[in-house]
Amino acid sequence: MTEGPPTDDPTPELRRAPSLVLLNTGDGKGKSTAAMGVMLRSVARGWRVAVVQFLKSGDWATGEQKAAERLGVDWWALGDGFTWDSDDLDKSAEVAREAWKKAEEIIASGEYSLVILDEVTYPLTWGWVDLDEVTRVIRARPQHVNLVLTGRDAPDELVEVADTVTEMRNVKHAFQQGIRAKKGIDF
Ligand code: ATP
Ligand code: MG
Repeated sequence: MTEGPPTDDPTPELRRAPSLVLLNTGDGKGKSTAAMGVMLRSVARGWRVAVVQFLKSGDWATGEQKAAERLGVDWWALGDGFTWDSDDLDKSAEVAREAWKKAEEIIASGEYSLVILDEVTYPLTWGWVDLDEVTRVIRARPQHVNLVLTGRDAPDELVEVADTVTEMRNVKHAFQQGIRAKKGIDF
């Protein structure tokens, strides 16, 4: 016997949240690009949007940064670049802490309805930024401030504080076949 389509509304009593925290983690491609998708939706609703990047440095100027700035999104690429390019990891850690200070100020100001913290999991994993402080700021944020957090290996505490957590699973990636990152697709 075949099963017919559902005819009862499965979600009759949903409530509205003043804001949400999304977390995109996992080892597959799509964490940051999914965040950019949410950015587009927010811009479409006339929201002020801020993006803080914890790894990419200002001089990379990715495609998404250029497009976002054209849309009126405020963008801070405050990272120190790849850790393997760094000749001073203490300095990289300090750069990450400065980036977090900026992110905290942006979140707490309440001026933005959406704040994207791109690759924020890495400085947490490496102990460069204090996890308890980050979760405290997230919990204490002005209630209309939505957040999207991205990065591999999200610590349990971030999973806990987020409303929606997606794990991108790597099935296959061009890089593993020796193909370099592609402009327009990867950056
Ligand atoms: P994207 O920005 O494309 O959504 P991402 O945010 O999920 O990717 P990151 O870990 O931030 O992934 O890595 C960013 C870069 O690394 C991108 O160029 C992306 O294509 C590439 N990448 C993502 N996943 C993998 C993987 N499993 N193997 C190799 N390279 C990857
Ligand atoms: Mg990313």
